[in-house]
Amino acid sequence: MTGTGRLASFSPATGAKLADYPVDGPAEVAAAVGRAREAAKSWARAGWKGRRAALLAYKRALATRTGEIAEVIAAETGKPDHDARSEVLLAVIHLDWAARHARRVLGRRRVAPGLLSAHQRALLAYRPLGVVGVIGPWNYPVYTPMGSIGYALAAGNGVVFKPSELTPGTGVLLARIWNETLPEHTDLLCTVTGEGPTGEALARSAVDKVAFTGSPATARKVAAACAETLTPLTAEGGGKDAVLVGGDLDDAGLDRAAEAVVWGAMSNAGQTCAGVERVYAVASVHEALCERIVRRAKQVVTGPSQPGPDGEGSGGDAESEGGDGRAAGHEAHYGPMTLPSQLGTIEHHLKEAADAGARVLLGGPESVRAPYVHPVVLADVPEDSPVMREETFGPLVAVNSVSDLDEAVERANASSYALGAAVFTGSARAGQEAASKLRAGVVSVGSVLGFAAIPSLPFGGSGDSGYGRVHGEEGLHAFASPQAITVRRFAPLADLTSYATPREKASRMVELARRLHARM
Ligand code: NAD
Repeated sequence: MTGTGRLASFSPATGAKLADYPVDGPAEVAAAVGRAREAAKSWARAGWKGRRAALLAYKRALATRTGEIAEVIAAETGKPDHDARSEVLLAVIHLDWAARHARRVLGRRRVAPGLLSAHQRALLAYRPLGVVGVIGPWNYPVYTPMGSIGYALAAGNGVVFKPSELTPGTGVLLARIWNETLPEHTDLLCTVTGEGPTGEALARSAVDKVAFTGSPATARKVAAACAETLTPLTAEGGGKDAVLVGGDLDDAGLDRAAEAVVWGAMSNAGQTCAGVERVYAVASVHEALCERIVRRAKQVVTGPSQPGPDGEGSGGDAESEGGDGRAAGHEAHYGPMTLPSQLGTIEHHLKEAADAGARVLLGGPESVRAPYVHPVVLADVPEDSPVMREETFGPLVAVNSVSDLDEAVERANASSYALGAAVFTGSARAGQEAASKLRAGVVSVGSVLGFAAIPSLPFGGSGDSGYGRVHGEEGLHAFASPQAITVRRFAPLADLTSYATPREKASRMVELARRLHARM
């Protein structure tokens, strides 16, 4: 079955059509997988050194062409140019790390064989899986998929990438830059375009692994499709991340925490899987923190970016222009909601919280002005409200009061999601102690999203946040299959894998080893 029709991409800021792309069906997806599989043969011949050089060349191309890539990201997602460029930089940092560390992490090495097998040489190798299908979201259309693409390529695989239907141009550009930079490895990275069915076709296309990032609901569907063929899956789902604020913070500490909460909650219009959605502050500092958060959130500007007199973008809508003290010609801090249906979710969460008695400290229903949502700060939100339980994915943060840090940990953990969290306390030690009690897969002490630019750290969560890890050594292992090799070096004292060994001799050896272990 081939795909039919065209997939159009639109500007979330203006609604204008940007471009259109093929809708790839099972036949086109299978062909792309075939091309990537063929290209993986020469990728294998390139060896660790050749692959490292090629990946670093690709990385340099992405860094050099950041402006071009950022332009497509900004057009498709609506995010400001600065944010789009920062996203490309993060992807570049991860690609660089994967390229430089793949051999150390996955290269063949000797391991200790143990006393009973001292006659064997024990080797551990990691083989590429083959072709990895990467299914991506729209909120970070380069950084998020590159966390799988870069590491999968570095591990020796080919990749077929299915970007979100909202950001097909970004995905197509990533593969085009690959082919332009590395013609000798053409189609090792292929992009297929389309909506959910194209992703489903990829999950069913006999790829050797699927790396999915998106909502938990879609993750379940992808897992079900993969289960039919026992295709392994890494599933990166959403989050409901909490920030914990201790009662021992001084004024400067509270300022830092408030600043981090506002950035973590509002940047990218709150459309960040590990963005800040909940805050649990110890009662003694709760009001002071709320006051600081509101003061800062009022300064955050959204709205259409307009060209300034110098030709650069100028942010701010009519209400906030001139009132934020920023010079004309600057961009807004964040752009429109990329996915139009998200506006309804935010409105619903806001209404449910207000109806349940939450205090609305900043904004309200009037903050939702499609396609933009202005910052919203809530306090004292009942814990069973959707705002505290479901992913809002908008510039809305709820700041609740708790009796102590232990209660903050308990509430943060009482979520179906367990992706990220952050802790602000007077001492780093207390922060680390609280971090160790959290279920979250990534915790930042004294900052938010501190891990994003540290490629050696694994990223991922559990529960509705998914399973498996991207980034770091774990992220390389995720795209490789361990192979254990033993090489017999000399004849053992008693060969336990041969009938030629007299039973009495073999039994003596077993008994000797048993006694040893009984005492060790
Ligand atoms: P989504 O689940 O709607 O779509 C994700 C991708 O899956 C898209 O490419 C889509 O076309 C594809 N898809 C849809 N149906 C499919 C099917 N049946 N089979 C295979 N593929 C299918 O998610 P989204 O709206 O694009 O992204 C937002 C979500 O992603 C949020 O929940 C966010 O928290 C999450 N996210 C998570 C991370 C992370 O690393 N944990 C990072 C970024 C975003």
